[in-house]
Amino acid sequence: MHTITLIPGDGIGPEITRAVQDIFAAAQVPVQWEEQNAGQTTYDQSGELIPQALLESLERNCVALKGPITTPVGKGFRSINVTLRQKYDLYQNLRPAKTTEGVPTRYSGVDIVLFRENTEGLYSGLEVYDEPRGIADSFNRISVEGSRKICRAAFAYAAKHGRKKVTLAHKANILKMAGKLMLDAALEASREFPQIQFEDKIIDNMCMQLVTKPEQFDVIVTTNLFGDILSDLCAGLVGGLGVVAGANIGDNMAIFEAVHGSAPDIAGKGIANPTALLRSALLMLEHLGEKEYAARIETALNETLRHKEQCTGDLGGPATTQQFAQNVINNL
Ligand code: NAD
Repeated sequence: MHTITLIPGDGIGPEITRAVQDIFAAAQVPVQWEEQNAGQTTYDQSGELIPQALLESLERNCVALKGPITTPVGKGFRSINVTLRQKYDLYQNLRPAKTTEGVPTRYSGVDIVLFRENTEGLYSGLEVYDEPRGIADSFNRISVEGSRKICRAAFAYAAKHGRKKVTLAHKANILKMAGKLMLDAALEASREFPQIQFEDKIIDNMCMQLVTKPEQFDVIVTTNLFGDILSDLCAGLVGGLGVVAGANIGDNMAIFEAVHGSAPDIAGKGIANPTALLRSALLMLEHLGEKEYAARIETALNETLRHKEQCTGDLGGPATTQQFAQNVINNL
């Protein structure tokens, strides 16, 4: 039995985490949940944005499933997600995007795994505002060590999963120092894994190539901000934010969460698609070594996605979040 810290989050978070819990219970997955929340809702109740009890639960269990948490735009508290990723050095953000039969998209044959550096870059939180001069500086901190770790992780993943190629997306033509550190780190990792083909692409060209010929890409590695943007782009290639999973992985802890946010426009309506969080939970099961449970639920999920009438509105179907979960359970 694995004990998992469950962070329902806010917005659509509680609705989709409930759906995942129901599916796991029906499939008799050997997990027990330790529920702890964070963010504005927790702050309103207890005066704590990230309660100490949540941190203790994370440190005890080292594995968490997390729903999205709203971050105020341009003001207010710092992103809980960014804070947790940095606090526990969850330096790998793994985001697979794969075409699924039945999920509407303009593309076919997409099978990309994106590795986004998760703790540095423009998300380092190093910002200063010089009010008299009206100038804001945001620092793009990139370290040799951080670059080496994420590039090596991408190559090691490629080697372990039988992937053929790693592409580094960068802007080293303009960011001659920060960009070059990533380029050097990727070249170093490629020498360690000579069986994996390596190429680098400048980020603007990368975006164009991704929308014109996405099937040429296999594993992609990049810095924090570029990875954040590219992963939503990749989600768009395979059916949108409702279907794409994510994982924040460090050497000692892993937090699994969907790529999408709290979707305030549909929160509370019971119509959110739980697929992205469910797929994140399946990545979690693989991480825990529970491959058979993951494979069984994935087959049931793919069967559900093949039938539009069993799907949620974002995929053109009539199902509510709970009905979708029930459809997956019926297909187990
Ligand atoms: P979003 O991902 O919440 O929503 C973008 C669009 O996709 C919306 O139209 C939404 O309805 C749709 N969508 C997202 N998930 C869906 C699902 N499961 N089913 C159906 N439709 C879905 O992005 P946003 O609106 O830019 O961000 C909202 C809030 O979420 C912000 O406060 C942001 O900071 C936060 N956010 C949190 C995380 C996280 O917790 N990891 C990640 C991204 C954004």
